[in-house]
Amino acid sequence: MITDAQTTNFDLTEDQQQIQKTAREFAREQVAPRAQELDEKAEFPEDIFKAMAELGFLGLSIPEDAGGSGFDTLSFILVVEELSKVCGSTGLGYAAHISLGVTPIHLFGTAAQREKYVPQLCKGVDDSGNLTLGCFGLTEPGAGSDAGGTKTRAERKGDHWLVNGRKAWITNPHYSKTCIFTAKTNMNPKDGKGITAFIAELDTPGFKVEAKENKLGMRSSDTAQLVFEDMKLPLDAVAGGQEQVDVGFAKFMKTLAGGRISIGALALGIAAGAYEKALEYARQRKQFNKPIGTFQGVSFMLADMAMEIEAARHLVYHAARLRDAGRDFALAGSMAKLYASEVAMKTCTNAIQVLGGVGYTREYDVERMMRDAKLCEIGEGTSEVQRLVISRQILGDLRGA
Ligand SMILES: Cc1cc2nc3c(=O)[nH]c(=O)nc-3n(C[C@H](O)[C@H](O)[C@H](O)COP(=O)(O)OP(=O)(O)OC[C@H]3O[C@@H](n4cnc5c(N)ncnc54)[C@H](O)[C@@H]3O)c2cc1C
Repeated sequence: MITDAQTTNFDLTEDQQQIQKTAREFAREQVAPRAQELDEKAEFPEDIFKAMAELGFLGLSIPEDAGGSGFDTLSFILVVEELSKVCGSTGLGYAAHISLGVTPIHLFGTAAQREKYVPQLCKGVDDSGNLTLGCFGLTEPGAGSDAGGTKTRAERKGDHWLVNGRKAWITNPHYSKTCIFTAKTNMNPKDGKGITAFIAELDTPGFKVEAKENKLGMRSSDTAQLVFEDMKLPLDAVAGGQEQVDVGFAKFMKTLAGGRISIGALALGIAAGAYEKALEYARQRKQFNKPIGTFQGVSFMLADMAMEIEAARHLVYHAARLRDAGRDFALAGSMAKLYASEVAMKTCTNAIQVLGGVGYTREYDVERMMRDAKLCEIGEGTSEVQRLVISRQILGDLRGA
């Protein structure tokens, strides 16, 4: 079996190794035993998120002086990877909370907004014991890959904004207290897209969360539409303050760039989890009086999985380290997300192949992992959109000519 010592030494710091160990034990002991049942029932694991809140995971990569746990991006990525090895849904809900729910408010909010929302989001649970996750509303029924095609409108009416519209495919809303979302505020903008980012509390009158979507995979993650019907927001609900009116779209794109690293980690974790299952099975299962791992057709599939997962890990950790170093990580993040997602899909499909008939049943985790992996090629920008982002960067000069 491939061991940590045989793979690249990623030179993790002591803090990163400690977080990885804690997350690995937590995932194996508390998440893995429940993953199949939660998937079957499409049930959100509230208690698992509450236990993660106690571990300080829900504000992991937010600085301590802002109310978080003060770890770096790579530490957060290691936690997403470990959770996703055993349960993609838990990995997705966790990644979305930190990358999309908390981080944009921490990075782009005014001082007052950061103080008001970030500590509670990092704590993750209120005094009544309810989860207080964050969610991010960009996608709409008619605006997916073309996220700038937002139809949700926010009109300034004297001392408040009046919001009407709908957001689709939003992660975590039933367990969130706060939502950061986009709305069109200027139909004829001189600069930018005339889109503004707002922060709203989910109990605001006129804010409704619809029923959970019935999905192929990531079934125990919470995905739903948000509806805004004459929702009144105060003027200071504009994320980043009044100067950000009409120009909030760029901040959302920056948030997505960071979020892509965590979807890369989600995909990496799912791939690694499926590979471990396939490896174990190839050692035990005998046909023709030999372990199936002795057949070249099977061992070569495992060799490809090991190599591709290793390459995905390099890309994902590299993107996280660029972010931690304060360097531009947008291209690296897109490459990491795209590559790791496609590795996850291929690894899971081949893991089912290695397990044969039993791999095709709900008793073995690999079919769940394959259904979960598919989301990674869609969420936070589809694989086609990642290729657009990458090609725009590498052909920038040509396109501008
Ligand atoms: C489980 C789940 C969780 C999600 N969580 C969130 C969330 O928390 N917040 C949020 O805002 N959104 C979220 N999303 C939405 C997600 O980001 C979108 O689904 C995604 O961006 C694709 O948009 P779409 O589904 O409308 O597909 P479309 O944009 O309609 O794309 C359909 C197909 O057309 C292709 N396509 C579109 N444009 C181009 C182009 N220019 N060139 C080539 N191909 C193209 C796409 O690649 C895809 O294959 C989530 C989605 C899912 C499924």
